[in-house]
Amino acid sequence: MDLYEHQARELFAQYGVLVPEAEVAATAREARAAAERLGGRVVVKAQVKTGGRGKAGGVKIAADPAAAELTARQILGMDIKGHSVRSVMLAQPVSIEAEFYVSYVLDRAAGRFLAIASAEGGMDIEEVAANRPDAVARIAVDPADGVTPAKAAEIAEAAKLPPEVAPVLQRLWQVLTEEDALLVEVNPLARTTDGRILALDGKVTLDDNAVFRQARWGGDAADPHADPLEATAAAKGLNYVKLDGEVGVIGNGAGLVMSTLDVVAGCGARPANFLDIGGGASAEVMADGLSVVLSDPAVKSVFVNVFGGITACDAVAEGIVQALESVQLTCPLVVRLDGNAAARGRAILNGRAHPLIHQATTMDSAADQAAQLANAG
Ligand code: GDP
Ligand code: MN
Repeated sequence: MDLYEHQARELFAQYGVLVPEAEVAATAREARAAAERLGGRVVVKAQVKTGGRGKAGGVKIAADPAAAELTARQILGMDIKGHSVRSVMLAQPVSIEAEFYVSYVLDRAAGRFLAIASAEGGMDIEEVAANRPDAVARIAVDPADGVTPAKAAEIAEAAKLPPEVAPVLQRLWQVLTEEDALLVEVNPLARTTDGRILALDGKVTLDDNAVFRQARWGGDAADPHADPLEATAAAKGLNYVKLDGEVGVIGNGAGLVMSTLDVVAGCGARPANFLDIGGGASAEVMADGLSVVLSDPAVKSVFVNVFGGITACDAVAEGIVQALESVQLTCPLVVRLDGNAAARGRAILNGRAHPLIHQATTMDSAADQAAQLANAG
C-alpha cells in the first residue's frame, strides 16, 4: 500500500527527519485557513498516489492565503495520471540551495535492500539514471546490518552528497524497517540556504503483508481516494488490480493470472484487470470476482482461466453457475478449464447453456476468443 505524501511526511517527522510545516485541506476554503496559520506564503501540493505532480501542475507556490485558496481550487479535482485530486497539502515554502535524491528499495533478486542516491535530485530520477548513470549511486544494504553510521557515510560519499545527509539516511532506514516499508523515497531531499537538510517530498510503500500492524493508515479498503473497484474488491478480500484494457481476467494463482494478462495482450487486446481467486475458489468468491470485474464499464469480455489443482474445475464451474444467480452477465464470458476435474466442469457449464458463456480448451484459443469478442463489442 502506498502512502500519501502527507502521511510519509508525518512518518519522517516522527523519526526526526526535518520536514516543512504543513497541513492538509480538502476544500479551497480550508486551504486558505491553513495558509493563514502557516504564515501566508505556501506551496500548494496535490495529494495523489503518483509522482510527477510538479510537471502536471499539481505543485504551485501561492503568495498569500487568497492566492492559496485560488490555487487550491485549481488543483482540487485535477486529474493527474488518472488520479483525481481530492485533497491538497499546504506547506511552508523553503529556500532551496540544492536538491538530492535518496531512496531505499527492496531488491528481491538479491534478497537485500538497495540504497539509491544522487546529488541531482528534484527531477525525474529515471531520466538522470538514463542520461548520466554515473550521477546515481546504488549501494546494497544487508538488512541484517542495516544502515550504520559507516554505511550512511558510504552512501553519501558514493552519491557525492554532503556528509550532513548521512544521519538523515539512517533515520530514513529506521522508517523503512520499523514501519514495514518496502520503499522509502525522498525526492527532493533539499539543503536549504540556511544549511538544513529537509525532506520536501516523500513516497512510502508499506508491505501489504504487514497491513494488520499498520492500522493507523486505514488500509486501501478504507481509503476513499482509492479506485472504487479496487476498494470494493479489497473489502471482499479479493486480490484485484484495475488495469486500463477491456478484457476482464479471472484466474486461480497469481502466476497463471500474470501469464494470462500476457497472452491476452499477445492476442491484440488489453487486460482490464488482474484478479486472482486463489486456491479453493468457492462459488461465493467466483460471484464476488465476477461482480467486481463486470462492474467495470470498460470490460467488453471476461476470460476465466482456471487450471484445476487443489481447486477442482467442477467446483469452479458450479461457482460460475451459482454466481449467475446473483450477478447478471452483461458481456461474453470465455471459460477455459483444464486440469483436475476439467471434463466434469465443462459438462456443468454446457448443462447451463448460457448464451454468453463460451468454452475453450486451451489458454491461447480462449485468450484469442476473449480478445476478438472484446474488440467486436
Ligand atoms: P513531484 O513532482 O510529485 O515529485 O512533487 P514534489 O513534491 O517533488 O515537488 C516538485 C518540485 O517542487 C520539487 O522538486 C521542488 O523543486 C519544488 N518544491 C516543492 N516544495 C518546495 C518548497 O518548499 N520550496 C521550493 N522553492 N520549491 C519546492
Ligand atoms: Mn518529488
